[in-house]
Amino acid sequence: MDELSTILEAVLPAIEARMNAAPSTFKLWFGEIKLISLTETTASFETTSNLKKKILTCQYRDIMRAALEDTLGFPVEVEIFSPEDLNPAREQPKPEPPKSETNEEAQRRAIEQGYEEEKKMADIINEPSYKHSVLDEYTFDNFVEGSSNKFARAACYAVANEPCTTYNPLFIYGHSGLGKTHLLYAIINHMRKKHPDLKIIYKKCETFLDELIRAINQGQTAKFKEKYRSCDVLLIDDVQFLADKVGTQEEFFHTFSALYEADKQIILTSDRPPREIKALADRLRSRFESGLIADVQPPDFELRIAIIRKKADDLSLNISDDMVKYMAERLHNNIRQIEGVLKRLYAIYSFSSAEVSKEKIEEAITIIDPDNIPTDAMVERILNTVSKSYSVPVDQLKSNKRTNNIANARHIAIYLLKQLTELSHQDIGDIFGRNHSTVSSSIENVRLNMKTVNNYESQIEKLIEQIKENRF
Ligand code: ADP
Ligand code: MG
Repeated sequence: MDELSTILEAVLPAIEARMNAAPSTFKLWFGEIKLISLTETTASFETTSNLKKKILTCQYRDIMRAALEDTLGFPVEVEIFSPEDLNPAREQPKPEPPKSETNEEAQRRAIEQGYEEEKKMADIINEPSYKHSVLDEYTFDNFVEGSSNKFARAACYAVANEPCTTYNPLFIYGHSGLGKTHLLYAIINHMRKKHPDLKIIYKKCETFLDELIRAINQGQTAKFKEKYRSCDVLLIDDVQFLADKVGTQEEFFHTFSALYEADKQIILTSDRPPREIKALADRLRSRFESGLIADVQPPDFELRIAIIRKKADDLSLNISDDMVKYMAERLHNNIRQIEGVLKRLYAIYSFSSAEVSKEKIEEAITIIDPDNIPTDAMVERILNTVSKSYSVPVDQLKSNKRTNNIANARHIAIYLLKQLTELSHQDIGDIFGRNHSTVSSSIENVRLNMKTVNNYESQIEKLIEQIKENRF
């Protein structure tokens, strides 16, 4: 069985349990469903007809989303396609693509053809028909504040309270999994209560672009413009997707300017600051930079502890302060991963009052973030791999011997320790009985060789691969 089928097998019982319907009902809608792709953000299913697609989308999508999150340990959006969407040519011959079409344009066209009408329904978030289930979970109240996100949170809160008059546009940036989308949802939730009359549109940038391209192809740009230009608050998530899309940046710019000039609130997020978004037209970049830019940084140790404690308590996990601390030490960068680990622990402990053990935490981390292994195990792996690759026993790596082969292997081990662990130069020096300046010069030495010696860089890359896959 392929991987997607295995995942589907794990998800289906969770859907059935949540549906709480007769087995025949479950079978009717889910009997022939296929999981056709799964990414970090989206699960795509194929069902057998347009009718089933419609029912699944309207009636069961929330259940599917929740069941997927339970099973996978992280949230994903759900898309449902019918055979017609996936192979439109079979049903309705489409005109030949223009000869000059590039690969990228062809891809876009494919997305556009397979697009779901229903997706458009959820755009305007504060219309009564919109179900708020997912959105409701993300508020300012349950956003844990620390030094790394305080400024961004305060800016978002100010904008939610007093849209259009404080910071406009507001641009939030930071790596994935640090709470940007959470903040956007919190803004929407807050605004819906405080300013129920405002028309709010939230869009992932990718969806915005797909929609724009579809509008262009169908000659419906007027409708598209009207829709976006009639809102009071526009939130666009992950605008880094505008990179290189020169054609669509143009329309984005016009939408942006029209709203901006009408004093409408614009809030954007990105995984990097405007100046680092590749091929972003200058005038769009300067518009992005004309309001307030706030970053979210990876959480420091204190914030990680606070987040783990809060989320563990919310899940009623019985976890000691020592284990909370242990988790905070092991999971440095990404709050989404912290949540993923806690959800897995919840799946194990939800029916017991037993205390969460270190072994189960390790197990959960291995599943959620396979590259993340405890530092001491990583050190051992690096030393063993280098030792075997260069036929230098580990004790000689740590010795004072300076023959070429031994010194070279030692430099490489030191370089890899720096790359693959969080250890400081001093910590690394301690492993080899040397001081931190020796460590710095070893690292420099390897960097120089990577630039000047043939094949050196590919050797290092190969070692990193072997270490990550634990192949020695
Ligand atoms: P991003 O959009 O930056 O990739 P998300 O907003 O999707 O990240 O956050 C990932 C997960 O981590 C979400 O479930 C979110 O609720 C949670 N999260 C992030 N930051 C915080 C925080 N400060 N307090 C509580 N939960 C957080
Ligand atoms: Mg996000």
